[in-house]
Amino acid sequence: METVVSGIRPTGNLHLGNYFGAVKSFLKMQYEYNCFFFIADWHSLTTHPHPDNIRKSVKTILAEYLACGLDPEKTTIYIQSDVREVPELYLYLNMNAYLGELERVTSFKDKVRTQPNNVNAGLLTYPSLMAADIIIHKAVKVPVGKDQEQNMEMARKFARRFNQIYGVEYFPEPASFHLSEKAVKVPGLDGSGKMGKSEGNAIYLIDDEKTIKKKVMKAVTDSGPTEPNSEKPEAVANLFAMMEIVSEPSTYEYFNEKYNTCEIRYGDMKKQLAVDINAFCAPIREKILDIMANDAYLEKVAAQGAEKASVSAAKTLREVREIIGFRP
Ligand code: AMP
Repeated sequence: METVVSGIRPTGNLHLGNYFGAVKSFLKMQYEYNCFFFIADWHSLTTHPHPDNIRKSVKTILAEYLACGLDPEKTTIYIQSDVREVPELYLYLNMNAYLGELERVTSFKDKVRTQPNNVNAGLLTYPSLMAADIIIHKAVKVPVGKDQEQNMEMARKFARRFNQIYGVEYFPEPASFHLSEKAVKVPGLDGSGKMGKSEGNAIYLIDDEKTIKKKVMKAVTDSGPTEPNSEKPEAVANLFAMMEIVSEPSTYEYFNEKYNTCEIRYGDMKKQLAVDINAFCAPIREKILDIMANDAYLEKVAAQGAEKASVSAAKTLREVREIIGFRP
């Protein structure tokens, strides 16, 4: 079975975009690959979070992953900072990572611009930590968004460079597995673009019925079509795209027909959409709340994941130490 690694930064709750764009694919992948899903809490230190924030956000994301259906018996779900071998591999990769190439990474250049007072070495070496996370399990596939492509190229480069320097065929080059080509794009309901946390237009899996309704009723539309079968402007198309994702096909068809015959009432459509989004979220929301209240279960899952990930990482590090010339 091929090995897949995927990390998520603990930066808030999962929204519908995360669910349909990524998590839903993970649910399938966990039965098809040897998967390692980890919560990248070391990566999050680049922005200097408070310890309470780290604890809370790690717990939240773990509970949400589990509530969505990631199965800790089938797959390895772990917290990055539980695997002590990761920073050792990060150190070795950093010894062969060069300032020029690290400085050229677009996401680093963005950070230099957006947080000029905190351009720390962790930001600069983000690609080597990400590479360590991936190759420590000798992963061959990594599900990523397009924005991670450059970091993936760096991971391949570091794996290749290690092999070349030591004259071994040790690390496989991890391939990117573009979720965006396979998964749906979840639109924003604020007129344009996609749903995202930083776009401020996200509907979260944890949102209650009232919150969902409020967000959906605020969705941008227009005054309605005046010609039959006219093309939908982006805001309206987004509303329909969301309906296609969460509602029954017959519901979508009903409102599409109303649109095509210029009889659409957006208020009715939004009410139905809010009901359907809530019907989708409610069981997940209940599970999130149950799991969040069960610290013993969360602790058990984290410990089990740490154990499995550490076995895999320790094997790699024993071999890597030997290759480099250290005592294994
Ligand atoms: P982010 O939290 O924005 O870094 O997103 C994590 C992952 O969730 C991305 O790499 C995508 O796979 C997925 N994702 C986020 N927003 C959307 C969206 N609106 N539509 C589809 N997929 C999304």
